[in-house]
Amino acid sequence: MKTPLVAGNWKMHRTHLEALMLVQQLSYELDDFDFDAVEVVLCPAFTSLRTVQTLIDSDRLHFKLGAQDVHWEDEGAYTGEVSPRMLAALDVDYVIVGHSERRQHFGESDDIVRRKLDAVLGAGLVPIVCVGESEAERDGGQTEGKVGGQVKAAFDGLHADPAKVVVAYEPIWAIGTGRTATPDDAQETIAFIRSVIADVSGDDAARAVRIQYGGSVKPGNAAALMGRPDVDGLLVGGASLDAADFAAIVKASKP
Ligand code: PEP
Repeated sequence: MKTPLVAGNWKMHRTHLEALMLVQQLSYELDDFDFDAVEVVLCPAFTSLRTVQTLIDSDRLHFKLGAQDVHWEDEGAYTGEVSPRMLAALDVDYVIVGHSERRQHFGESDDIVRRKLDAVLGAGLVPIVCVGESEAERDGGQTEGKVGGQVKAAFDGLHADPAKVVVAYEPIWAIGTGRTATPDDAQETIAFIRSVIADVSGDDAARAVRIQYGGSVKPGNAAALMGRPDVDGLLVGGASLDAADFAAIVKASKP
């Protein structure tokens, strides 16, 4: 039985001062029983990482810290970028790579996502690799082709232990739209993702890899999604900016 993994992706929201308040509000909403049952990750903007990390340390909070993106080199002439080494020094635990918004707005290809994935694993951090199909791809019956290709690109020939990778299945049509995949849709595609990992990396890795669902997760649908056998966690965007909603999602994710 895996511990459910619930991560909040704050995207480009909250200054570092606002982030501080949000973490404090969340810490009032959640108790030790919640943290014993669910691994909770907060992914603020780069500008808030240090602030959130300091608060987690000083108040001995049980949140894990995540970044929303990373560059694949440890250092160099890459203006505006942040390296895995810099994140590791900030006690970051998780790094989201290949979020659909980065693939869509910043042209991140499977190849770039893979470089980031390798770099994150190389720095001893845990990547959360996002995969998912667009509405047109789903309507065109291409969900498995698209998602399967993204998963293969992430796992094929991986030097590190594949079991360390977290996958987030995020159908693009469900992100920020209020339209959630049904628990059956999520289960079906996540089981398919696991079968692709089994083909590429073997059955043990496929069983061990944690696979999250993401896309308009709310307090009202979290338990049903988490109730499906292959859903190991949730990646939450909009609802993670509201302390009461995010806390309710964490509580609904308890086994
Ligand atoms: C996301 O961006 O990862 C996400 C799942 O967003 P939302 O929950 O707002 O759909």
